[in-house]
Amino acid sequence: MYQQVFEEDWSAVVERLHQEKIKHVMLPNIDMNSIDPMMRLVNEDSNLFKPMMGLHPCDVKSDFASVLDQMEPLIQSYKCCGIGETGIDLYWDKTTLDIQKEALIIQIEWAKKYKLPLIIHARESFHEILPLIEKHHDQNLRGIFHCFTGSQQIAEQILKLETFMMGIGGVISYPKTNLKETLKQIPLSHIVLETDAPFLPPVPHRGKRNESSYIPLIGAHLVDVYGGTLEEIAITTSQNAMRIFELS
Ligand SMILES: [Zn+2]
Repeated sequence: MYQQVFEEDWSAVVERLHQEKIKHVMLPNIDMNSIDPMMRLVNEDSNLFKPMMGLHPCDVKSDFASVLDQMEPLIQSYKCCGIGETGIDLYWDKTTLDIQKEALIIQIEWAKKYKLPLIIHARESFHEILPLIEKHHDQNLRGIFHCFTGSQQIAEQILKLETFMMGIGGVISYPKTNLKETLKQIPLSHIVLETDAPFLPPVPHRGKRNESSYIPLIGAHLVDVYGGTLEEIAITTSQNAMRIFELS
């Protein structure tokens, strides 16, 4: 939401957040350059916009260790409410797998040290990420597999971790997805809603810019899976998000 594509009509974007009763917008960081634009929003309204700190797997370069050294003190000074985005992405670049893993392990350790949720980006990489999470898992590690689109078997492995949730975004509205079938095996207590704005907009906004006020469009698809009303889905998934981010 801090990206340039929102600059032109920013006040209308914020107005739609309020219209849809969005209380908090969680902002993941991706690299050193995204910190300032993210913090500009936080400084605009620190109750609405909540920062996180992390190095996105697609931005892990050979200098990752010094980048992470610069980021770590900001976790506390900027009152970050999560560690991320981190993870492993083997769709865009497989050659950096080793350093992506190293950067992820450092960020897992941050999540444990600062008792913050880990926001995991997993693209074609569940088989690399899950063993790392399992190895480093302890009572202080919790988090979200963001934009979850994995198989039923992967979902089961995540559920076994107990302290991890799955983030469901616009993909659930796409006609070709099997996600609704997979979700039937996942209790709603392990689901949070997300947009990944400006990416992956839900139908009917596909191909355009995504924004956080589209969350109810995603929630409506969970009604198909879990039954109940959109209001009930909204209450439960909001409570899940508040719990994992320790917000009130
Ligand atoms: Zn991501």
